[in-house]
Amino acid sequence: MSLTYLSLGSNLGDRLGNLKSAVAKLREKVSIVSMSSVWETAPIGCPEGSAPFLNAVVSCECSSSVRELLAFTQSVEAELGRPNEHEKNSPRTCDIDILTFGDEAVNEPDLAVPHPRMKERLFVLAPLRELQKDAFPFGKEYASLIDTQEVRLFAPPFVLQQA
Ligand code: AMP
Repeated sequence: MSLTYLSLGSNLGDRLGNLKSAVAKLREKVSIVSMSSVWETAPIGCPEGSAPFLNAVVSCECSSSVRELLAFTQSVEAELGRPNEHEKNSPRTCDIDILTFGDEAVNEPDLAVPHPRMKERLFVLAPLRELQKDAFPFGKEYASLIDTQEVRLFAPPFVLQQA
């Protein structure tokens, strides 16, 4: 069993509904341990006029391999209406990134774990910090991002902590 952290995002359609559907579908294969608040964040590197995102992070227990998890998260994205072929950073009903997977490190063209850009993204770090609290490893980088990226609390977590 591996503890994995997943980042969820949506900036198209019913954004909160999309995140709820993504979590419901994820539960078919992983056991959700905890969920951050939902944050609203300015789109970064997206086409002009892109809508703001809702983002959250969930931690999960996962019994499959990281590759199987990637195939699964991609199938969830597709089920929620994200086309397989899409332009980079285009608006999306649902985006799921694997941030970490236990202490595994993968560095391949189609899978990099820990996610190489997580430290640059306040929309990942803000919710991740809620879950990792004292173990949050990116204090300095986080502090320097606060002035440069726009994030605000949008809604409380909709998944309760598992006993
Ligand atoms: P994006 O369009 O930003 O969602 O990027 C999707 C692509 O990133 C997919 O082709 C994945 O194979 C690749 N990818 C690489 N590392 C990861 C990761 N840690 N989690 C999710 N997707 C990843």
